[in-house]
Amino acid sequence: MGRGTPLARFIPALIGAVAAAAACAAPTPVQLLTADTVPAATPVPPATTGAPDTSDTSAPVDTAVPDNAADGEPWLPGDVDLTLEPPADITTVVTPATFDTTVITGGGRAPSPGDELVAAAVVDIERWLNYTVTEVYGRAHRPLAGGVHAVHPDRRDPTPDCGGVATEYRDMLDYVALYCPADDFVAYDASDIGLLSSLNNERGAMATAVVIAHEYGHVVQERIGVLNRPLPTIVLEQHADCLAGAWTGWDDPARSLLPGRDAVLTALVALIEVRDPVGIDPYSPGGHGTAFDRIGAFTHGYAGGAEACVALVAEPLEVMPNTFGDLGDLARGGDAPYDCTGVTDPECRPAGQFLGDDLDEFWSLAIGSSVDLEVVTSAAPCADGTTVGVGVTVCPDPGEVRIDEAILRPVYTTRGDFTLGYLLGRAWVELTISATGADAECLVGAWVGDLTLGRGRNPLRESTVVTSPGDLDEAVDVIMSTSVDGVHALERIASLRRGVLGGLDACNR
Ligand SMILES: [Zn+2]
Repeated sequence: MGRGTPLARFIPALIGAVAAAAACAAPTPVQLLTADTVPAATPVPPATTGAPDTSDTSAPVDTAVPDNAADGEPWLPGDVDLTLEPPADITTVVTPATFDTTVITGGGRAPSPGDELVAAAVVDIERWLNYTVTEVYGRAHRPLAGGVHAVHPDRRDPTPDCGGVATEYRDMLDYVALYCPADDFVAYDASDIGLLSSLNNERGAMATAVVIAHEYGHVVQERIGVLNRPLPTIVLEQHADCLAGAWTGWDDPARSLLPGRDAVLTALVALIEVRDPVGIDPYSPGGHGTAFDRIGAFTHGYAGGAEACVALVAEPLEVMPNTFGDLGDLARGGDAPYDCTGVTDPECRPAGQFLGDDLDEFWSLAIGSSVDLEVVTSAAPCADGTTVGVGVTVCPDPGEVRIDEAILRPVYTTRGDFTLGYLLGRAWVELTISATGADAECLVGAWVGDLTLGRGRNPLRESTVVTSPGDLDEAVDVIMSTSVDGVHALERIASLRRGVLGGLDACNR
């Protein structure tokens, strides 16, 4: 986000760790993470037939939609119900399951507390795989031949080779999880030191479950014959994220694992943790998309089921720009000052002020009457004030937005500038439209989309505030870490996306 000219962007800091960004675009295994960390010494096994070729990023997206043998017609987006209904219960229902080595192979280690949930998830995913491949894609189903492998340093039995190449534990540190099409197995990091371990400890074993579900999404791709097409990695990854969401929200009475509200939230966190780093073109080899993109694909599948994911191979969801406009943008290191203390640029203005001016302009034009709200630095409460989060309070009388710097500034500094952008966006929506809950997210999204995509922009707009890579994920971060009206983050982010991609018109339904 920045102001002045489109070049005067600044690069916000990333939220959280991006771990060892790895790429599902490795020549052979299909991994969860992104990056250029594919081991250089790993040859392409000759037996591999299912690996996506992402070396040519200019390759067009394959326009062929997988056949559906049931009716001979491809699925179209209009065929599915995309109404989002996040789970009402917090509790994740798990039917009795044990850490069965016939379900997960992980010799040499006592089951950990989360293994039961993971084992139940694998049983559930296998059933879902059968349903998805046969019922949705109309293809003959083959169960996963090579199994699911919990990989950790103490593992007694060797992990299978992938196309003749040894699968080492260090691969898990790079990739977190992978699917090997050559030998048809899934492996994931089951150590006590990796990203999944920390996520499991902090949030629960659903983190591992959704990672495995994502890899099973690549299994589906192998079964339906898209894994060996020259598709950009991001298309396959969005499709796999969609399928992971479809599994999470699968409406089937015989499930062995039914994720509750917290588990779905954990699934979102797991996706966010393995998003692309800021500045990475999502269409570059190994691109997985931003958190905004990944959660968007996940939500698409969660709401619409596996049927909704079918079209994404031919008609991928729009992904957000994630590269910097110029070297100066990059060189600024991402951290525009919160205020102008020590800044030599005579045109510098505190972020809260130029954001507030932009919001005034946007909403004045949108509602057809003047909006002129003030951003005030104050920790004092106000009558009938409501907190929109992280030290930002909306005060209806007088119409102002109060910022408690002691709370907000550290968040701004460590988690990025658009934490403030998002919060002010919420404040303006609440004060000018009196919108709350998910409806407010859509309206905030409309403003963010105006700054990010500029689509259909009101010609009377004079502001030059623009977003930079990472800003949307900072909005997602705030949503994930603040509770509003009991509305699930899944629904809030979906609503934000609707506004970003469709503008104000999309919020009027
Ligand atoms: Zn993947």
